[in-house]
This record gives sequence, structure tokens and C-alpha cells, in this order.
Amino acid sequence: MPRVLVVEDEPQLARALEINLRARGYDAAVAPDGKTALRLAAAHPPDAVLLDLGLPDMPGIEVMRGLRTWSQAPVLVVSARSTSDEKVAALDAGADDYITKPFGMEELLARLRAATRRADPGSRSDGSAVVTANGFTLDLLAKKARRDGNDIRFTPTEWHLLEVLIRNRGRLVSQRQLLQEVWGPACRTRSNYLRVYMAHLRRKLEADPSHPRSLITVPGMGYRFEV
Ligand code: CA
Repeated sequence: MPRVLVVEDEPQLARALEINLRARGYDAAVAPDGKTALRLAAAHPPDAVLLDLGLPDMPGIEVMRGLRTWSQAPVLVVSARSTSDEKVAALDAGADDYITKPFGMEELLARLRAATRRADPGSRSDGSAVVTANGFTLDLLAKKARRDGNDIRFTPTEWHLLEVLIRNRGRLVSQRQLLQEVWGPACRTRSNYLRVYMAHLRRKLEADPSHPRSLITVPGMGYRFEV
């Protein structure tokens, strides 16, 4: 049963969404604020998220950024805010679609179906905040890592690079994409940065850094994180 996380602080609307989703065969969970949303998502990774932008404890866009550090589940923003700047900001932060309140329930359900169809079915099952691979464990939500029972410390840049690779786990990520995401567009050609930082990551995570099992180099192309 596909699991949908409804992040909505208006109780009546949250309840209406919950009832309609359950009637359509979804497993619906409701979070009335951002902190609860991130906690529920980490405990039970959702297949899709309906996200209100105006939440009592934090901006909805922060919830999306939090989710996007580890989850590829489709996020549909459901919000009364409808200036194009806000739509662009939501899409830039990783939203898959944007639905303006008030909306028709049938339209919302149709767009939810479309978003879950677009999502790669293979990637949804591993949308978890905790990654265990080859002797180490990474908790992407808590930003903590352990290897052989010991905490591993990363610099912010190392962690950012690791997050991008893990978000795309099993897929080749090009050097250009990694450089652009972690260091910015001005550094798109500085592949020496990647060699240095990947060596740091391997030294910290891999049992044998010269024969990596998780942080794989694809020569001339980029890198891939293997679980
Ligand atoms: Ca609201």
C-alpha cells in the first residue's frame, strides 16, 4: 500500500486528505508541523509527501530540504501561497508538483497518482534516512556516521559530497554535477577537488581505501555510491 505523508496544520483539511487517501487505498499519515513530518518520514519512509508551506514551527521549504537530503519520494506542495517566486523556490528545493489551495480533491489525487508514477519504482524502496553499507552506517537525518562502533567525523564539504552520492545511490553521478552541487557552478571543472575529497571519504569509510566497495570511481565520468 503506497504510503503518503500529509504535512498540514489545518486539522479539517488534514482530516479530509487522510480520509480521501485511505478511501483510495493509500496508507496516510498526518504531521501537523515540520518537526513531526521529518520524524515520521524518517521512521516510515513515505512513497509521496503532500506538503503545506505555511507550518507553525518551520517553513515548509525547510521540511523539503530536510527530506531531500535523503529521500527521493515525490513531494507535492499544497499551499495557498501562489506567487511564482514561491513556486520556483519550492521546485528548486526539490518539489515535484505544486497545487494551489483551494483545490479539488479529484485533481489532487490525479496529480498524486501522476507524481508517484513518475517516481522511479526502484528508488522508492531504498528511500531511507539510515544507510548501512560495507561496515559503516550513515544516518542522513542526524548527520551521523559510525564505522566498527566508532563515530566518524566529516567536514561540512565531505558530508555534502557524501549526501549527493547517497541521494543518487546506485547511479553514476557525473564529476560536473558533483562539483556544481557541492562547490558551485564556478568550480564545475575542478575535478582535482573531487579526487582529494573522495580520498578523504574513502579513508574514513572504506575498510580498504585503495579497493573501495562503496565509493566507486567511474574513470573519466564520475562516481557511484554502491550499497
Ligand atoms: Ca498552513
